[in-house]
Amino acid sequence: MIIVGAGIVGASFAYHAYQKAVDKITVLSSDLPGDKNQATTNTWGWVNGYASNDKTYASFRQANLNYWPKLINDISNLEHSSKGAFIWDLDEKELHQTIKQHQSWGQSVKISTKSELLRHLPNLINSPTSAGFGLDDLAIEGFRATQELLKASKSKIIKVNVKELVFENNKVTGVKTDDEVIYDNEVVITAGLGTPNLLSTIDIHFEMRSSLGLLAYTNPLPSLLNHPITSFDFHARQDDKGRLIIGGKFDDDASNEQNTKETAEKLVQDMATRLNYNGKMILDYFTIGSRPLPIDGRPKIGRLVRHNGQKISGIYLAVMHSGITNAPLAGKLGIDEIITGKRNKLIKDFLPQTLNKLEILQDV
Ligand SMILES: Cc1cc2nc3c(=O)[nH]c(=O)nc-3n(C[C@H](O)[C@H](O)[C@H](O)COP(=O)(O)OP(=O)(O)OC[C@H]3O[C@@H](n4cnc5c(N)ncnc54)[C@H](O)[C@@H]3O)c2cc1C
Repeated sequence: MIIVGAGIVGASFAYHAYQKAVDKITVLSSDLPGDKNQATTNTWGWVNGYASNDKTYASFRQANLNYWPKLINDISNLEHSSKGAFIWDLDEKELHQTIKQHQSWGQSVKISTKSELLRHLPNLINSPTSAGFGLDDLAIEGFRATQELLKASKSKIIKVNVKELVFENNKVTGVKTDDEVIYDNEVVITAGLGTPNLLSTIDIHFEMRSSLGLLAYTNPLPSLLNHPITSFDFHARQDDKGRLIIGGKFDDDASNEQNTKETAEKLVQDMATRLNYNGKMILDYFTIGSRPLPIDGRPKIGRLVRHNGQKISGIYLAVMHSGITNAPLAGKLGIDEIITGKRNKLIKDFLPQTLNKLEILQDV
């Protein structure tokens, strides 16, 4: 099996392929975990179950929340940095509605009162009156977790750009890299924002969007925040090295930032005023990452079809935002489908393409 892309999604496919005894797994990737062009390197790393008004997607996310602890248990050195996360980036009424909706879907969320907040976040100066609390939410260090998944997959990893897919008689039979042609029975595309270009080489139009996320990292600090927190105009958590990782409004697009360093410095200065800490808190470095966004916001996982509806064999696609949350089951259920041909109902609605029926009729 060839896997194109060594971000967290590709790493999860590689790991689960190994678990299913796929004997030769090769991961080809122009960037590796830790390289600055990868979304995984630049992530905030919050694993959560929220998908307002989209029960199907919320269920998939919750299933990932349930599965992450098993992965952490099974893979040595794979860890979470914290468990449980608070949100108060909605007005009181919306917050209660959101929590109630997710509870009605069976998710492990609740409203935390001010006294609970004071207990769990003792260093926060201005606690809100209430907040949503995701009991099973996790914070994961994206690129280190990806390195551990790749290590546990025992796959061969090659740092190389894939130029195009090799395509014959409606079947993908391999890839052309900058150096060579490699043939295989199955090519899994987990290339994040590189996906549209790769698919265009087999005449498939696949649209994606992107936005830029800026995160400021402080110097390592003593323990100040035990849980990730998301407020109206900032989100912050402390990583496994004690650094605060601070962003502005959640999911904000930093494309129009004139001076990102200044903005990152301001994120740290503002955070310093929100926490009881008298020591030195400074900007150590910042990251800017492109979010890989499928057009409708849901993950895209599955086989591809031509515009006449005919299935293409030898290729499987998995691309998504919230990949830190979703990668474990995307990889597990994706590999199951590749091997058995059966599609799990958790991913049933995440097919990569929606076909226009008229187009199919006309093509035939
Ligand atoms: C600022 C920011 C904050 C985020 N916060 C969260 C969060 O809190 N929680 C959460 O769940 N998600 C979050 N995300 C989203 C999450 O990080 C991504 O969904 C996830 O990392 C995507 O992983 P991936 O493996 O699909 O893509 P990537 O990590 O981008 O990996 C794709 C790989 O494919 C390789 N590639 C592409 N094209 C080619 C080619 N032609 N040849 C060879 N290799 C190729 C690239 O080099 C890259 O290594 C955030 C993202 C950003 C940017």
